[in-house]
Amino acid sequence: MTFASLGLIDSLLSALDTLGYRTPTPVQAQSIPAVLAGRDLLAAAQTGTGKTAGFALPLLQRLVMEGPQVSSNCVRALVLVPTRELAEQVHQSFQKYGAAVPLRTMVAYGGVSINPQMMRLRKGVDLMVATPGRLLDLQRQNAVRFNQVTTLVLDEADRMLDLGFARELDQVFALLPKQRQTLLFSATFSDEIRAMAAKLLREPLTIDV
Ligand code: AMP
Repeated sequence: MTFASLGLIDSLLSALDTLGYRTPTPVQAQSIPAVLAGRDLLAAAQTGTGKTAGFALPLLQRLVMEGPQVSSNCVRALVLVPTRELAEQVHQSFQKYGAAVPLRTMVAYGGVSINPQMMRLRKGVDLMVATPGRLLDLQRQNAVRFNQVTTLVLDEADRMLDLGFARELDQVFALLPKQRQTLLFSATFSDEIRAMAAKLLREPLTIDV
């Protein structure tokens, strides 16, 4: 199997070629066509399975295909992660895979000055990787608006709950458009995660690798 056969566009294929990725991992083989088709996803995938590219590649492609249309202080795709380290890592993945596509991305987490993040948002961003607390801080300052969000990704959802982000997550969910694509990644499946999936996902493709 090749990445081209999964339906990815040339600008993403060329980035993968440069990175030396030859064959999709099992999670990528399942997630890429489903996400491209607009489906919701419930994925039990650990770190090391290639899950990041599994959502980043089709997400970038959908944003490119929808065309540049982001308004001031708006964001089109939101990727929520539990820690600043993971935020940096996931954002770097988006930059690597999206090196040849003209999209505005950013990363936002707490413990650093909020001002550069507010500045970056002024022109709008296509995609933001964020921790839940800082995202809400930005929202309360009117630096970010969610009305143009078409995709929500929850990465390491179980760790977000373990770190006590349940309340913040619920606050974010309440602010997002109901009509959207949602992807939920979690290493473990507690009752809390199942309840979250039942609330957020519509006829999801379930991936277990
Ligand atoms: P992840 O599970 O998303 O943390 O990715 C694990 C590692 O595998 C990362 O260092 C990726 O750069 C790498 N990787 C992801 N997909 C592929 C692939 N299809 N071929 C080769 N390396 C990959």
